[in-house]
Parts: sequence; C-alpha cells; structure tokens
Amino acid sequence: MGIARKRQKQHRTLRSAFTQAVQTVRRLTMNFPSISCTFGIMRRTKKSVPQYVLPRGERMKLHRRALRAQRIDQGEVCGVLVRDSKCRLGLHFLQNRSTEPGRFEISGLDLAAVRKDAQLSGNEVVGTFHSHPISPAVPSRSDLRDARLNTLLLIYDVCGREIRLCRVKRNRTGRTYEDVPISSDKPRLPA
Ligand SMILES: [Zn+2]
Repeated sequence: MGIARKRQKQHRTLRSAFTQAVQTVRRLTMNFPSISCTFGIMRRTKKSVPQYVLPRGERMKLHRRALRAQRIDQGEVCGVLVRDSKCRLGLHFLQNRSTEPGRFEISGLDLAAVRKDAQLSGNEVVGTFHSHPISPAVPSRSDLRDARLNTLLLIYDVCGREIRLCRVKRNRTGRTYEDVPISSDKPRLPA
C-alpha cells in the first residue's frame, strides 16, 4: 500500500509539472501564432492543434495546371510552398527546369527570388510542391534526396486527385518522411 501511494503521488507531481509546461508553451505561443506551427510540440496538445490549410482556390489551380501538364506530355508542375501567419499555404508555381520526363527541378535563382518576396510580405518559404502525373502521391527516392531536410513536400496525384503533405527527415539509412496534416478551407454552409 505504501509503495502504491508513493507511486500515485509521483504520478500526480509529474502530471502537474507537465500541465504547467503545456500551459506555459500555450501562453507563450498565443502572442506568436507562427510559432505554433513551427514547433512539433504544439501538435501534440489537443486544443491548439495547428494545421496547414490549402485554400480551395490554390487546390483548384494546382489541379488545373497539373492536369494540363499531364495531358501535354505527362509533365510535372512544380513550385514553392509559402506559408502565411495563419498556416495557410500558397502555391508559387515555378518553371520545371528538368529535361527528364517524370522529374522536376527548381532553379536556385527562382527559389531565392520567391524567398525574398515572401520575406518582404511577412511570409515564409516552407518547402516545395510538385505533381505526379501517373503515380500515387508518395515521395520518390529522388524527391527525398533532392529536398532539403526538415522542409515540407507537397505532392499532388493527378489521377487520384489526392494531395499529400510530408516533412523530409533523416533516418539511419538515409532519408524518410512523415505525413503532416493538411486541410482545405471549411466547406461552405448550405444556403
Ligand atoms: Zn515526386
């Protein structure tokens, strides 16, 4: 009994320390909305789960352009993901510089220009996007190899009309990815 009570007390102490820590982080991030989507720790707290949003217009534009490229020569569209302070993602389309089919390549100069514009308007470049004309929205080996670590990768499967957002990470054997939640704008309420 003595040991059981002691353990209960330890659990209570730990729980209250954890709760306090969570409250402190919430308090701090309340004034800085962008922090909440930068740090993974906030994703684990239930009430303030920040989620990337792809506005409906951006999603439609992606579908239109990716479908057109697929129909012309099974090409891929690509560009840069720009995040605003509310975690909304903007798609900044750039020229696909790759000469190989089924690949995409973004020039460093193009990327630098977008990054500068984004900074001037208080936004941030958080990764890249591209389409898969005939394959599922799963990062290929070259997608992972060419992406910068810890950046986001958005892939659009043209046939399945599926969007996947993931973060590129390092693992023991090389690179891997983890899925990142993304949603579209809230559906309109019926009239
Ligand atoms: Zn790919």
